[in-house]
Amino acid sequence: MADLEQFRAETRAWLEENCPPSMRTPMVEEEVVWGGRNQKFVNPESKVWLDRMVAKGWTAPAWPKEYGGGGLSKGEAIILDQEMKRINARSPLASFGIWMLGPVLLEYANEEQKKKFLPDIVAGKTRWCQGYSEPGAGSDLASLQTKCEDKGDHWLINGSKIWTSYANHADWIFCLVRTDFTKKHEGISFVLFDMTTQGVETRPILLISGSSPFCETFFTDVKVPKDQLVGTPGKGWDIAKRLLQYER
Ligand SMILES: Cc1cc2nc3c(=O)[nH]c(=O)nc-3n(C[C@H](O)[C@H](O)[C@H](O)COP(=O)(O)OP(=O)(O)OC[C@H]3O[C@@H](n4cnc5c(N)ncnc54)[C@H](O)[C@@H]3O)c2cc1C
Repeated sequence: MADLEQFRAETRAWLEENCPPSMRTPMVEEEVVWGGRNQKFVNPESKVWLDRMVAKGWTAPAWPKEYGGGGLSKGEAIILDQEMKRINARSPLASFGIWMLGPVLLEYANEEQKKKFLPDIVAGKTRWCQGYSEPGAGSDLASLQTKCEDKGDHWLINGSKIWTSYANHADWIFCLVRTDFTKKHEGISFVLFDMTTQGVETRPILLISGSSPFCETFFTDVKVPKDQLVGTPGKGWDIAKRLLQYER
C-alpha cells in the first residue's frame, strides 16, 4: 500500500511536470493522435505529450517493459488512470493496436512476432485496422470466405472485407482469413500484413454526412510472409473471439 501511495505521488509530480497545458483540455477530433506512418500533428503539444508518454511506456501502461510497455501492476495502472483524469489529461494515443491487437499478441503470438509488432504499437508508429467483416459475413462472422492459400514460402490471400474502419489510413491490418474450406470455425486463421503490400486496395464508403469512417477492402493475390500468421493455422477463431472481448 505504501508503495502504491509513493507511486501515486511520483506519478502526480511527473504528470504535473510533463503534461503540456493544451493536453489538459477536452479532446477535439482534429487533434486525436492515431499514430502510424502518416501521422501529422495538428497541435505540436500532442507530439510532445505522445513522446513523453511513450518514453515511460505509458501508452500501454500494463504491457511488459520488454515490449515497450510500462510494466505497471494493475494497481499502478489504475492510479495512473486516476491521476491522468485528475488533471483532465488527454489520452496521448488512440490505437486499435493498443485496444485490440496488442492484448491478443501478448497471449497468442510467438516471441519474434511480439518483438516485431508490440513496440511499434506502443510508440504509435504503426496504425492498425481490423479485417473481420465481409459482405457475406457480418453477424455470422465465421462464414467468412477470404481465401488464404499455403504457397510454400508465403500465404496467398484473395477476397474482400467491408466496414473496415479507417483502412485507408492504416499501415497494417489484422485479418481473418480461411485456410481450410472443409471446416467452418476451425478453418479460420489470423494473419497480419502491411496495407502497402501489392494487391491490397481500399475504397472508402462515403456516408450521407460526407464522412468516410469505413472502407471496402480488397485483396487480389496478396503475398504474405509465412511468419505473419499468428498462432496455428485453423486456430484463428479463438484469437478473433478473444480480441472481441477487448474491443466490445
Ligand atoms: C461503427 C462501426 C465500426 C465498424 N468497424 C469495423 C471494422 O473496423 N472491421 C470490421 O471487420 N467490421 C467493422 N464493423 C462491422 C460490424 O462488426 C458489423 O456491422 C457486424 O459484423 C454486423 O454485420 P452486418 O452489417 O453484415 O449485419 P448483419 O449480419 O447483416 O445483421 C443485420 C441485422 O440482422 C440481425 N441478425 C443477423 N443475424 C440474425 C439472426 N440469425 N437472427 C436474428 N437477427 C439477426 C443483426 O442483429 C442486425 O441487426 C463496424 C461496424 C460499425 C457499426
